[in-house]
Amino acid sequence: MTADSQSASLYWQPRRDAAREALNQFLPHAGGHYARQRNFDRGPQDRDHVSRLSPWVRVRAISEPEIIRAVCSRHSPEAADKFIQEVCWRTYWKGWLEMRPSIWTDYVQAVRVAKTQWKDRPEYIEAIEGQTQSPTFNAFLHELLDNGYLHNHARMWCASIWIFTLRLPWELGADLFLRHLLDGDAAVNTLSWRWVAGLQTRGKQYVARPDNIIKYTEGRLGEGEVLAESPEPIMPLELPEPQPLPAFPECPVDERGGLIITEDDVSAREWLNQTHAVAGIFPLRAYQEAGIAASVVEFRQSLLQEAVAPEMVWNESESLADAVCEWVNRNALNYIVIAEPPVGLGQSVIEQLSVICDALSIPLYRQRHRWDEALFPYATHGFFRFRKKLPKIIRHWL
Ligand SMILES: Cc1cc2nc3c(=O)[nH]c(=O)nc-3n(C[C@H](O)[C@H](O)[C@H](O)COP(=O)(O)OP(=O)(O)OC[C@H]3O[C@@H](n4cnc5c(N)ncnc54)[C@H](O)[C@@H]3O)c2cc1C
Repeated sequence: MTADSQSASLYWQPRRDAAREALNQFLPHAGGHYARQRNFDRGPQDRDHVSRLSPWVRVRAISEPEIIRAVCSRHSPEAADKFIQEVCWRTYWKGWLEMRPSIWTDYVQAVRVAKTQWKDRPEYIEAIEGQTQSPTFNAFLHELLDNGYLHNHARMWCASIWIFTLRLPWELGADLFLRHLLDGDAAVNTLSWRWVAGLQTRGKQYVARPDNIIKYTEGRLGEGEVLAESPEPIMPLELPEPQPLPAFPECPVDERGGLIITEDDVSAREWLNQTHAVAGIFPLRAYQEAGIAASVVEFRQSLLQEAVAPEMVWNESESLADAVCEWVNRNALNYIVIAEPPVGLGQSVIEQLSVICDALSIPLYRQRHRWDEALFPYATHGFFRFRKKLPKIIRHWL
């Protein structure tokens, strides 16, 4: 059985070696083939022209520098330029949001308000059940619910149809994606939806056209679709100015530190190099409040458990503080260190750990991955300015 004929749940195994295996399988395609083919969505059975690494990248089961290094061992950086750029789009969006966290908090608040207004309205219910007048949208919605993954072009078409043809609030569409995508990510998802809506680049919204859908699905979808082709733009608010990224002091390596790993970076054990004590915290309460699908929770919990093994993973709950205090005392820890969770659901862990560390009178060291540290500061303006910095930084990582 090839990877392509496997069901989604079998394909995205929650193991780090499965991510490396998927990367190895994809490597021959990462050069010109990817650049020429990446926009085609021929359906879930025919996907080896894109990497499908995103669910693993989301939790850093495989990291951006690791992917780029592997790709450049097989292709020249020029030949793999398109693929490398896509990998770095993710870093760009994450850095962009990290410097403008109010976009996320405003979005969370807007979802809350829109849900109360829309939850019983037939247009919204038809959309989340895939029963709209757009067969293309319905087909992708079912694919999303079944597989937890959509091809990039399908995500663009879906978001555009949701916003401009179905005329639903973009925040509710972003919420639907975030709840069901295995790779669902606060920065990439929110900002991609905003980009489609025309809120990221003034006057540049993405409008899905039936002929484009027919071409890039090779006729599977799009025939006879009636889509809004010249919609009124949504008036964007001024974008917030970027705030400086918080600088994190280095943590001491010669004292007794305890490492907390979260689902935002399951590779933290390797780059934070702390061995005295390790434990995991999964922000289950934040996930449940956001209504994240059980399949997504299971996938990330399993990867976190693998990263922490043989130690334990605590779920965010009433008894978290007691569990952490007991662990700190048992291991005679002087401090706790954690890979800084980016803007998103995982930040609730930092909020709770700060309170716990204060109560224990021990410091909490927050550390940023060197890749993010190197690239986030350049996400101040558009991607094209950011992209100019890439060759030099990437050369350093090769
Ligand atoms: C409306 C919308 C919502 C999206 N939501 C998410 C999300 O929640 N999480 C997420 O990881 N991606 C999201 N994307 C970006 C993109 O669709 C996926 O990253 C990509 O389809 C994943 O498939 P792949 O691993 O085969 O990508 P490949 O094409 O093989 O690319 C390799 C890697 O580069 C990164 N990447 C690729 N395309 C993009 C992109 N356009 N923007 C940012 N990073 C990219 C991903 O980490 C991906 O794994 C969204 C795009 C749109 C239009």
